[in-house]
Amino acid sequence: AWGRVREQLITRIGKNNYTTWIEPIRLASLEGEVARFEVPTTFFGDWVSRNFGDHIISHLSAGDSAVSRLEFFVPARTRAPAGEVAKKPAPRAVARSRASDEELPGATLDARFTFDSFVVGKPNELAHAAARRVAEGGPVTFNPLFLYGGVGLGKTHLMHAIAHELQARQPELRVLYLSAEQFMYRFVQALRDKQIMDFKEMFRSVDVLMVDDVQFIAGKDSTQEEFFHTFNALIDQNKQIVISADRAPGEIKDLEERIKSRLQCGLVVDLHPTDYELRLGILQQKAEFYRTQYKGLQIAHGVLEFLAHRITTNVRVLEGALTRLFAFASLVGREITLDLAQDCLADILRASDRKLTIEEIQRKVAEHYNVRLSDLIGPKRLRTIARPRQVAMYLAKHLTPRSLPEIGRRFGGRDHTTIMHGIRKIEELMAIDSQLSDDLQLLRRLLQG
Ligand code: ADP
Ligand code: MG
Repeated sequence: AWGRVREQLITRIGKNNYTTWIEPIRLASLEGEVARFEVPTTFFGDWVSRNFGDHIISHLSAGDSAVSRLEFFVPARTRAPAGEVAKKPAPRAVARSRASDEELPGATLDARFTFDSFVVGKPNELAHAAARRVAEGGPVTFNPLFLYGGVGLGKTHLMHAIAHELQARQPELRVLYLSAEQFMYRFVQALRDKQIMDFKEMFRSVDVLMVDDVQFIAGKDSTQEEFFHTFNALIDQNKQIVISADRAPGEIKDLEERIKSRLQCGLVVDLHPTDYELRLGILQQKAEFYRTQYKGLQIAHGVLEFLAHRITTNVRVLEGALTRLFAFASLVGREITLDLAQDCLADILRASDRKLTIEEIQRKVAEHYNVRLSDLIGPKRLRTIARPRQVAMYLAKHLTPRSLPEIGRRFGGRDHTTIMHGIRKIEELMAIDSQLSDDLQLLRRLLQG
């Protein structure tokens, strides 16, 4: 059926489009309502889906099949799919045991995630410095190192960088990096195969243990328990541990108290949301890379500035935008201009355009401090309400483009000097009240995440 559909598509979308977009894709399966296609890149699949998806569906289902949905996938090559424990890990991922030449069940390390390729800016300089220190492999200073921050801010990148660096400096070191999900998977497998002693022994024999996205084991009781024992055994032997999570230890729900407090006893550092300069720096670095990849393809500096302004969510999205831009420009053989960027990235730009409102801020703050929204906006002067109110004013000023009089109006018609006073108060307290500054950081993350 696909052969016939392909012929029909030639007349429908034109010979050029056909050769560029349809010829390279392969129908992998057709089951029930779903047709699955193999495509060379994710971008390619997106493009075909958006531009020709309807044609493909209508021609496919004109025959005897009832296709209503298309799926596109990039065939797996070198990287192990996420979540799968590498049975035959790539060479870099594996530390060989000194004693037995047995392989550690680590996850594949991404060769691109090095310290060299990590752009340092204000929001991540502390995390970067701490990671560097651990990667030097000297006497264990902070244990564990706990890195946390929102999605796509570079936690995994830094962890891989530590592993690469340690392995380069001390090839004999047994470095084990894996996600908390893989830890659980391994554990459950060991239970099932009655090899729990081997499991324990293996995890207790590493020199450096790195567990990514530890929030995953929250609520998984026996895995937590095992993790706790592994953790303690290694700390007792003075072995380095590096942990990452999407939030601070104390904020992970359904994680045992004793684990929380253990996680806090080393160094806890966070990766803050990116700022404009950092985003621009990352874009410049990536653009440099693409310029050599796609020889001669130019990108105007204004385009990078535009992207750094407009895509503020996470670095992965930012990188995805640039990748698509270069792929597209090279396909159509055009220089990357602002116009082209706006066309090609319309969907991403729209998604990141979502503007935060003062109401959303007020609601989140009220929820966080457990006060009523009406009280937060109303006239009560109780300290327990006044402080959250000032926090909300502060966030409204920093996270929205609203002016002080406008903010005043949304806070029950308060005068702009009252708003200014509230904001100043928070700024003063922030410097001396660490609970308050933690609250602010958390709220910022929740609101911008
Ligand atoms: P997280 O684990 O925090 O969700 P990742 O480490 O997977 O985020 O980062 C997402 C993507 O963004 C990766 O491709 C990573 O290389 C890139 N990235 C994040 N921060 C930086 C940075 N400071 N410099 C260069 N690349 C970065
Ligand atoms: Mg990660």
